[in-house]
Amino acid sequence: MHEFFLMKSLIDTLSSIAREEHASKIISLTVKLGALSHISPDHFREHFIHASQGTVAEGARLTIEVMTDTTHPQSQDVLLENIEIMNS
Ligand SMILES: [Zn+2]
Repeated sequence: MHEFFLMKSLIDTLSSIAREEHASKIISLTVKLGALSHISPDHFREHFIHASQGTVAEGARLTIEVMTDTTHPQSQDVLLENIEIMNS
């Protein structure tokens, strides 16, 4: 269930950025998986593809970086690092 909420909040964030920027589409994004986020890049990608269907992020190019620092204050989180949008 943990990853369901991770993914929902990521998609919500992407949707609100797109709305604010009047973007029709998210072209690409980079996320950083915290060292203690307990989700593998492959598993994350699978969930993202599924969760982004029918949203502005559908088909976006996803780059995933894995953090190794377990003492990082956000080591349990998934951080949105970079996003490229297409303006309509
Ligand atoms: Zn899962």
